[in-house]
Amino acid sequence: MCKIIVIGGGWAGCSAALRARKAGADVTLLEKTDMLLGLGNVGGIMRNNGRFTAAEENIALGNGELFEITDKLALHKNVDFPGHKHASFYDVAMIEPEVRRFLESLGIKIKTMTRVVDVMTCGKSLEGVVDAAGNIYMGDAFVETTGSTGPMGNCMRYGNGCSMCILRCPSFGPRVSVTQRCGLDDVFAYKEDGTVGAFSGSCKLEKRTLSKKLQKRLSKDGYAVVPLPDELVNREKMNRKVCRQYALDAYAENVILIDTGHAKLMTPFFNLEDLRKVEGFENVRFADPYAGGKGNSVRYMSVGIRDEYMRARGMDNLFLGGEKSGFFVGHTEALTTGALAGFNAVKFARGEELLRLPEDLATGDILAYAQEVLLQKDGMDRRFTFAGGEYFERMKKKGLYSTDSKTITKKVESLGLLNVYNEG
Ligand SMILES: Cc1cc2nc3c(=O)[nH]c(=O)nc-3n(C[C@H](O)[C@H](O)[C@H](O)COP(=O)(O)OP(=O)(O)OC[C@H]3O[C@@H](n4cnc5c(N)ncnc54)[C@H](O)[C@@H]3O)c2cc1C
Repeated sequence: MCKIIVIGGGWAGCSAALRARKAGADVTLLEKTDMLLGLGNVGGIMRNNGRFTAAEENIALGNGELFEITDKLALHKNVDFPGHKHASFYDVAMIEPEVRRFLESLGIKIKTMTRVVDVMTCGKSLEGVVDAAGNIYMGDAFVETTGSTGPMGNCMRYGNGCSMCILRCPSFGPRVSVTQRCGLDDVFAYKEDGTVGAFSGSCKLEKRTLSKKLQKRLSKDGYAVVPLPDELVNREKMNRKVCRQYALDAYAENVILIDTGHAKLMTPFFNLEDLRKVEGFENVRFADPYAGGKGNSVRYMSVGIRDEYMRARGMDNLFLGGEKSGFFVGHTEALTTGALAGFNAVKFARGEELLRLPEDLATGDILAYAQEVLLQKDGMDRRFTFAGGEYFERMKKKGLYSTDSKTITKKVESLGLLNVYNEG
């Protein structure tokens, strides 16, 4: 049985580990914090706009298990909110243990509080990785899904300081780029003002610190739009955030809240004293990041260059997924890229032909498009999500957007890819 090591346990790492295990490998998943899912513990929005299509394509390809869990733990389904249609919001507080139990039940070895700090290479082959305690993990192929956030030094330099986010670098240690340790060059994003990185685009408020009326509205509708007085409107901040799909006037002119268990505030940060001036927010406080009144985590600081099979350019047996594999934003995007990376890691280890997702599918097209754009002059200013911005526009133009599950399944079948992930 081939041995696959996955480094980083966010949505991309979980998806990679799942696909590698289902393809028959012995899989070890290494995560530096005490929880899986990384940024997936603070997001929650699924199936909005083109993410619906992408989720259904994944399911038809045989990568449905983690989507089943996010659907099962959805607090609200089929919600339309400004700029977004048919969204569902999973419960961010309950999702992690459910995913962990599921992966463990399949026999994936999960090692939390295990931070990879070094690599053992032989030419273009990665032989093993070393954790901070000196333990060595040897493998036939590796998947790096360490994300692109932080570490603290980057949030200090390119953000407003460490915002004390879910990755908790001061306690669990900084992110380490495996590709860089292998001697490869990572790339990073630029904000519109020319500075490096991008602010995470939202924060969570403690729901019960909102007025009772607002809490009721959120629980009933799944979202709330509260107009801001003119003096609190800050349009410039929208250009600094990761998620271009929310860089709309409505998100500057209103406080838009989403019910993900917490009240998700769709702005990168908001001065607490100002926020408390808004009706219904008089007692409000932040739940994540703790310093959401001042700043947020800084992302896209470490993106590897890969090929269409998700393999790191310059290494034979290192595959990339999630934010590490391109300027992708989102859980669905991490689940999509992670799955292909994990599956191809096994294919490589067995000496079999690697899988490439065709551009007739949104899930294949986004991979090819992100790669093409990266080589362009402004490639590092652009980010890709099925949920909005330039990629969702492209999906619609190319006829790749659909909300008809049967049509999507038929299309995957006509491409000879129905359940392909379970044929390994
Ligand atoms: C506040 C916020 C809200 C968001 N909301 C949404 C949303 O509603 N819907 C949506 O689709 N997307 C949302 N996103 C974006 C989405 O969460 C991410 O794009 C996606 O989850 C990234 O997944 P990933 O696995 O690539 O990376 P990450 O989630 O960053 O996971 C990387 C993991 O690797 C670990 N790691 C790092 N270095 C090492 C190392 N050296 N050794 C071992 N482990 C390591 C980290 O601890 C982490 O767990 C949100 C992001 C943020 C920050």
